[in-house]
Amino acid sequence: MMRRLVLMALLCCWTAQGQQAVVTVVGEPENLQLVKDRLTTYQACLQENCYGPQMDRQIKLATDFLKQSAATAKYGEKLALVLDIDETSLSNWAVEQKDDYGYIPADSNACVAQHCGKALPGTLSLFKEAEKDGVKVFFITGRPETQRADTEANLKAEGYDAWEHLSLRAADHPKDQSVIEYKSGERVLIVKQGYRIVLNVGDQMSDLLGDPMAEHSVKLPNPFYFLP
Ligand SMILES: [Mg+2]
Repeated sequence: MMRRLVLMALLCCWTAQGQQAVVTVVGEPENLQLVKDRLTTYQACLQENCYGPQMDRQIKLATDFLKQSAATAKYGEKLALVLDIDETSLSNWAVEQKDDYGYIPADSNACVAQHCGKALPGTLSLFKEAEKDGVKVFFITGRPETQRADTEANLKAEGYDAWEHLSLRAADHPKDQSVIEYKSGERVLIVKQGYRIVLNVGDQMSDLLGDPMAEHSVKLPNPFYFLP
């Protein structure tokens, strides 16, 4: 089997000159730089399978869920919208580009300290819709508690003017606690206050999974980094 694959790779690249050939690698993953180039194109392009239009589509679905939930809620019911922050409410594209898709903690922390996050316009409009519909907003972020003041200042400067609660990760959280355990644990506290979490929006599946899940969960695109 392996011999046949090598032969195929050899044959595929036999040149017109007849005597030269490149033996390619079978099963080699896509080149890292080419992936980065594709991501950069994806982030900026405007066709329907690009970042901006995909983001708009997900936000439209989320907004429809929110409006429908608000319109059909019983009198006196407390409704909640859960939002993640990074790449959901605020974009860190500037630092992602600066670090060429690498994660450099010092740069990331400097970005937080300088309030460099930019509102993602679709999520900001969803936030405003929640305010209009009387749905309370709960931010749940994996940022550490030490970044609370900077995070609040950045959110407010970008138009997220009021919310019910902002959860950040406590310094003494269990070291083996997963993102899913942390975020679903924060949702437990919201439910215990008598809220129906009608919608949860995040850019990672770990923002959305775990018990209790929201009645509707919407994943935003983010192929730029992964948080399990
Ligand atoms: Mg995020």
